[in-house]
Amino acid sequence: MVWEVTRTVRVRLDVPDDRKSDLHATNKKFQYCANRTSEWAWRYPDEACVTSKNEAEAALYDDLREETDYLHANLVQKAIKRATDDIDNCVDRLADGESTSQPEYDTFSIVYDKRAATYYREKVSLATVNGRVECDYDLPDNPEGTPHGQYLLNDDYDFSTSTVHYDSEADEFYLHAAMEQEVDASSPEKAQDSRVLGVDCNVDDHIAATSTGEFIGNADYLNHQRREFEKRRASLQQTGTRSAHVTYQRIGDRFGRWSTDYLHQCSKQLVAEAKRHGCTHIAFENLERIRERISDGKKFQQWAFRKLQEQTENKAELAGIVVETVEPSYTSQQCSKCGCTLEENREGQQFGCLDCSYSVNADYNAAKNVARKLALQLQRGQKSPAGGVFCQYALKSGVMTVSATEVASDTPVSAERESTDKHTPLGVGH
Ligand SMILES: [Zn+2]
Repeated sequence: MVWEVTRTVRVRLDVPDDRKSDLHATNKKFQYCANRTSEWAWRYPDEACVTSKNEAEAALYDDLREETDYLHANLVQKAIKRATDDIDNCVDRLADGESTSQPEYDTFSIVYDKRAATYYREKVSLATVNGRVECDYDLPDNPEGTPHGQYLLNDDYDFSTSTVHYDSEADEFYLHAAMEQEVDASSPEKAQDSRVLGVDCNVDDHIAATSTGEFIGNADYLNHQRREFEKRRASLQQTGTRSAHVTYQRIGDRFGRWSTDYLHQCSKQLVAEAKRHGCTHIAFENLERIRERISDGKKFQQWAFRKLQEQTENKAELAGIVVETVEPSYTSQQCSKCGCTLEENREGQQFGCLDCSYSVNADYNAAKNVARKLALQLQRGQKSPAGGVFCQYALKSGVMTVSATEVASDTPVSAERESTDKHTPLGVGH
């Protein structure tokens, strides 16, 4: 189990006198973005309010960048997010029969993520409308025992998205630093038993299929969006004007963000699925080999797979789950029930075993093989395979434990062995 602990520490910022106006001007633009988003997203009572940050970003981001004379990209995004988060709360209140109104922003408060700010232990560098400004923290002479010492200066805590405020009476700026610590209650290396979620990635239909029978993401949709983007870009390139060039880059950034975000949703689902099944490992096919399967023209899909694996690795790490890859040879041709490996077993999206007649979605069959491969590898890696440590893989119908015979021969178990008993010590030690 891994979870995060966040502590907020308020610290006065030593802002150079000649840079105070830059922070005020930045705040004005941040407010402007939040207010514009709020006006756009607030539709009560005629329509449903927009509470999705992504939807608001898609509609407003480009305009807001332009209208603010290119306020830092991440500040614009955070302003949009602030408004949609607040509206989300309003919608909850309305649903509870409480009264509320369209959020308005008129006080000084700027949200700085780690791209718009660089956080150090004793100072911060903040993006403003006029470049970066470095501000030292006003720390107590003896910070020991103070929140500053306990969190701000403590290397066990990392900075996460924080806010900058202004006290007009004192004419002082403050950072509300969000200090985050990951608490790891059980390290995966020490885990006795392993359980694997297998993942098969695809260029069409679903982006990923899991050994537990989940289908995640829509590859056709992602590819369609990509083609639309390419079309728009091609026509802009033909225009050739300077403003077309600017737009060209801007929609490029925007598509990059959109697709990264789309894959984030997919990787999030993958990790959630692994957690749901109590998995210690997630198995992907080795990317080098996937690349061979994808034609050269499909650079974008290679990028997407790489991104998905990277994102899954990052998210899995926070959940204490290890991501590994296996060689993908025969994963699509082999029957996950009887082990019969024939090219003819697969016909497009359908897998039909010519030996045992097992018939199932081809990607799901492949995902089960991927899971099994890693479970076998892990079992082999155990110092004593008969020592009572179980290497399992998660299936829709339950978990499967790899057996000692399998480890030796690499022959899959038979269909009857697919067990719903979560702790059946099948095979191991027999
Ligand atoms: Zn079969």
